Amino acid sequence: MNALMQTYGRCDLAFERGEGVYLFTADGRRFLDFASGIAVNALGHSHPHLVEALIEQGRKLWHTSNLYRIPGQERLAERLAAATFADKVFFANSGVEAVECGVKLIRKYHDDFGDPNRYRVIAFEGSFHGRTLTALAAAGNEKYSKGYAPAVEGFDHCAFGNLNEVRAKIGPETAAILVEPVQGEGGMRAAEIEFLQGLRKVCDEFGLLLMFDEVQCGVGRTGRFFAHEWAGIAPDILATAKGIGGGFPLGVCLATDRVAAAFQPGAHGTTFGGNPLAMAIGNAVLDVILAPGFLDQVNAVAAHLDARIHELLRRFPATFVGLRGKGLMRGLKCADGITNTDLVTQLRGLGLLTVAAGDNVLRLLPPLIVTHAEVDSAIDMLAAAAAEAKAA
Ligand SMILES: *Cc1c(COP(=O)(O)O)cnc(C)c1O
Repeated sequence: MNALMQTYGRCDLAFERGEGVYLFTADGRRFLDFASGIAVNALGHSHPHLVEALIEQGRKLWHTSNLYRIPGQERLAERLAAATFADKVFFANSGVEAVECGVKLIRKYHDDFGDPNRYRVIAFEGSFHGRTLTALAAAGNEKYSKGYAPAVEGFDHCAFGNLNEVRAKIGPETAAILVEPVQGEGGMRAAEIEFLQGLRKVCDEFGLLLMFDEVQCGVGRTGRFFAHEWAGIAPDILATAKGIGGGFPLGVCLATDRVAAAFQPGAHGTTFGGNPLAMAIGNAVLDVILAPGFLDQVNAVAAHLDARIHELLRRFPATFVGLRGKGLMRGLKCADGITNTDLVTQLRGLGLLTVAAGDNVLRLLPPLIVTHAEVDSAIDMLAAAAAEAKAA
């Protein structure tokens, strides 16, 4: 027993160091990391460019507060605006804070420019938006919200992918639609491109804001800088985090000028958010991910992973019954009688780190720098586990 609150079901394993796609224990055991700290270590562990940025900034200045200008913030915001639909950026420290910022912006926008009675947000079954009371209400998932009543008011839920249900739910109080273009925790389900395009149309028709939660699926994970780019449409607000800090806590809320105009000085804030250290690392992550050719490589290795997983599906139909997700954000749906968490444990024993997701899905989230050979090595371990699981 230790003095930590018992909020996590941890396995009895601690790592001492990491290098690229590998993690090492103090006694020298090596693990191939297809969990990436839950989609956080986008550039793997100890990436030289990120280490250099951390050390260089660490020697100069860590924190000043948002009472002053922070050049690293201005630079990162400009780069994000140039690379996306957005004009304005707010920096927070985590995914849920980026989501919270977006939901507050939705309410403030309608309060300032439209109709203050419009505050309700349509969100989706199977979604995950983080662990604050607002985010729990947004997801509406009993698994996370049980015991935390009363729920924050103002969220309605529809089946993920059902546009008719969305249309039917829209009322005079509806302010926005909030969706993950690829659901992560809920089971690695990618929205159909037509569904995302349909949501954009519905929002335009009814004067609603469209907000994407790309905390997990953003920053190159699906092979585009942001996952919604596959659909050729843009949101009004987007929350991202995880990969953008490469392991340093960093959350970002992006918005168009029209919407962000609702935030005036004093309307929102954070003490730590956007500090010089976080900004140095965020900028260093972008140096790599936005470099010409980087996302092409992600797509090439993702295509290889895709092909190799389809082989697995053919070889082990009693273990794996489907492939979900996009790019390097993949989920293997486990067969009835196979438990995803048991497979995670089994794979860990073989030296491969993965994560469970909802709906009995095994998540594969390798660092974006993963090579074809490392994918092959993961597939070998998945095949070994599947062969054992079938025998059990
Ligand atoms: C992880 C996650 C969050 C919450 O991020 P935190 O950094 O844990 O607060 C929100 N939305 C999605 C889609 C996520 O995957």
